[in-house]
Amino acid sequence: MKVLVSHSATHLRRRSLVTESGTREIINPYDASVIATVAEASTDDVDRAVLAARAAFDDGSWSHAPVAHRADVLTGLADALQEHRDEFVRLETLDTGKTLAESRFDVDDTTAVLRYYAALSATDAGRTVDTGRPGTQSRVVHEPVGVCALITPWNYPLLQISWKLAPALAAGNTVVAKPSELTPLTTIRLFELLQVLLEKAGAPRGTADLVLGGGAVGAALAGHPEVDLVSFTGGGVSGRSVMRAAADTVKKVALELGGKNPNIVFPDADLDTAVDFALTAAFLHSGQVCSAGSRLLLHRSLHAEFTAELARRADLIRIGDGCAEGTESGPLISAAHRDKVERYIAGALAEGAVLRAGGVRPTEPELQAGFFLRPTVLDECRADMAVVREEVFGPVLTVELFDDEDEAVALANDTPYGLAGAVWTQDTARGERIASRLRLGTVWINDYHPYVPQAEWGGFKQSGTGRELGPAGLREYQETKHIWRTLDPAPQRWFAG
Ligand code: NAD
Repeated sequence: MKVLVSHSATHLRRRSLVTESGTREIINPYDASVIATVAEASTDDVDRAVLAARAAFDDGSWSHAPVAHRADVLTGLADALQEHRDEFVRLETLDTGKTLAESRFDVDDTTAVLRYYAALSATDAGRTVDTGRPGTQSRVVHEPVGVCALITPWNYPLLQISWKLAPALAAGNTVVAKPSELTPLTTIRLFELLQVLLEKAGAPRGTADLVLGGGAVGAALAGHPEVDLVSFTGGGVSGRSVMRAAADTVKKVALELGGKNPNIVFPDADLDTAVDFALTAAFLHSGQVCSAGSRLLLHRSLHAEFTAELARRADLIRIGDGCAEGTESGPLISAAHRDKVERYIAGALAEGAVLRAGGVRPTEPELQAGFFLRPTVLDECRADMAVVREEVFGPVLTVELFDDEDEAVALANDTPYGLAGAVWTQDTARGERIASRLRLGTVWINDYHPYVPQAEWGGFKQSGTGRELGPAGLREYQETKHIWRTLDPAPQRWFAG
């Protein structure tokens, strides 16, 4: 099925700075069919996009425009996204394999993020400082950083670009975005809508552009001397490389990396609900979620009953075509990624884990072409196993046991990651105690996965640096400037001569 094909490539050639120095086929992970062919940027294309963004920034008509002017563009983009909601939902599902229901959430959440930053930026007036010295004034103001490179992963293409694009534009930056080479389609479409709005608003050419391609294109952006800030979401290996590339010109760097997220269940939890959310935590989007609750930490007394129910329900999950109503979970993103996940499962079994559910590809004939894997529950796991220590990023849930609070916290924190996690208990004091001891950027008590644009998102430890969303998500894209004024200057005579 061809949905975008030459339309987007033509569009990119016409409106944006990307030229067709090569092309890449975009694959539907449901059936391995080619859904689009898009332009691939060369290093020269990256250079031209960045220099255009530099010129657009220095022009000042966007970066120093009244905040309301930029907020109007974001609000317009939110409106346009909702007008084209069905198209975006379908495209996101075709591209990523996730279900239509998940894509609807993503499109609506993206809209909310655009609206949130449009509103927040309008209230960001800086502050005055009492200097304690008569005849002086002191103000602290926030200004755009400059040219921002926005690099996003394949699992939440729309959502991830909105977390960067909305605050970056609201603050007055110019941007060059690079979506994942695996799932660029909704970002391309979003930028098409954005270009129209920017043109209408009189923003200079180059204010927001896209370059398409893989890691080499991302690396060219991260190392470009005219890029002032790199905001990167993706895996740790690429993230470290971005940080190194940014070091030469001391760019600001924001990194949202992986997680190995604990989901802790105490015996006093509502167990039906805890089982239900353990499934959502681990298997939403086939576990290809940075905050996936991939490590279930169970109180020992719950072991038999909880894992039996978990495995029973995991076996009932309906996997299939994300575009078909009734599908509960889609495929993995690629054959190579599924191979990697299968290697983790085989390794865990060799190390002594016990398979309670899944571990195999589905047998349905219609699922043979796509990259499917059954939701997998691995019991009797230990903290030293690779499947427990490393981010698998697939439909694999490991089960470890604990005896008391201290052990639960120690197991949960025994990882280089620190992104998110949950604790299940009806004891309010215990919930708060555990939440305060977990070294994680997000802790859910009796829930899993909710987030709101108003609250910061990001990781402790090697899950990243900086924060997205909330007021801190805007600050990432701002420099802070102190302006001091002396009202009636006179010689100071520090030096007598
Ligand atoms: P990835 O690191 O392979 O790629 C991410 C992006 O970086 C892509 O656009 C890719 O082309 C680009 N890239 C690759 N190498 C690069 C380099 N050397 N320099 C610059 N750019 C480079 O990650 P992925 O497989 O697309 O995404 C999955 C990862 O993303 C997982 O680790 C997941 O946990 C993480 N993730 C984190 C969050 C979060 O909020 N913390 C959200 C979503 C995904």
